[in-house]
Amino acid sequence: MADIVKYYSPFRQQAFSVSWVLSNVCNYRCSYCPEWLHAGSLKRPETWEAWLFLRRVLSKCRRDKKSLMLEFTGGEVTLLPDLIELVERLKSSPVECRVLVTSNGHRSLDWWRKHASLFDMIILSYHSEFTDARHMLDLCRLLREQEVLVYVNVMMLPARFEQAYEFAQRLRDEVEIGISLQRLQADLNRYDDAVYPYSDEMRRIMLQFRGRIPDYYSRLQTGELRAVDSEGQERSVDVLELLQSGRSCWRGWWCSAGEDQLRVDPAGTILRCWCGQGGNMGNIRAPRLSLDFGSVLCSRRFCSCLLDFFSTKQRPGPRLGSHAPGRWLGPADGI
Ligand code: SF4
Ligand code: SF4
Repeated sequence: MADIVKYYSPFRQQAFSVSWVLSNVCNYRCSYCPEWLHAGSLKRPETWEAWLFLRRVLSKCRRDKKSLMLEFTGGEVTLLPDLIELVERLKSSPVECRVLVTSNGHRSLDWWRKHASLFDMIILSYHSEFTDARHMLDLCRLLREQEVLVYVNVMMLPARFEQAYEFAQRLRDEVEIGISLQRLQADLNRYDDAVYPYSDEMRRIMLQFRGRIPDYYSRLQTGELRAVDSEGQERSVDVLELLQSGRSCWRGWWCSAGEDQLRVDPAGTILRCWCGQGGNMGNIRAPRLSLDFGSVLCSRRFCSCLLDFFSTKQRPGPRLGSHAPGRWLGPADGI
């Protein structure tokens, strides 16, 4: 039985992570996407405001002797005219920065040809209601040729499951690239709400499907999730299996989200993590802002975002001394 679940990676262990939803502007209107994520209704930070906040993050990293893992996402973040400028500024900082971007991939091949190498990783999402499959295949081939680290998340809307699965198989056949079939939550407004009702066969397909990982992906030094028991014995845990099987629950455990990672929403609100546990921690525009938040006690039914897996989870108990015991231990109790 695990007492600690921790993500081990040479880079991550020394990094502070920030996941920033830079705007809620998007050119798609996916049926499963909450309005707030694509309506274009929120005033996004000006370039100077965004850079001011990033400088605060970089100062914290320097003070703590940490590197920075920054993920820019949206909306559709590649629509923003100053995205490239912000990434270039980060890359010229003395703090080691890795920059990830998530995108629906709609920008032209020329745009990607010019800018893709700036990013340490690109996470593309295939949305069956809107994505031009031909363009996505060409883009993946281009990024593979440029040896860019890219993962493709294929969004598995049950009503379009066959179409999305066919695309994923075609992509795997044509391009050596990382692919994941993503189950979708029925209501993305509610982080820990149940997923869409998938059949057993659909769940089996999503669980077993893998892309083809090229050798050069090893340069990202991706790590692994490990469970540590009370004797200090460690074993690795399959993240995808945990996520797909719905056992990714640490309710009643302490979680280091806020200590080693932050999330910023399109209005500039700072939260510990994607689940929002612990609530609003301030705004990037605040004249005075501390970025030193402690651990938080998890009360969520699911930990459903991969980025939230990077925070260390620890079972409350005697080893933690002052921490109150958890009221309820979730399905991950059995890992
Ligand atoms: S591409 Fe992403 S942000 Fe845009 S509508 Fe679809 S799910 Fe929402
Ligand atoms: S749901 Fe949130 S608080 Fe709970 S373990 Fe995941 S990241 Fe931590």
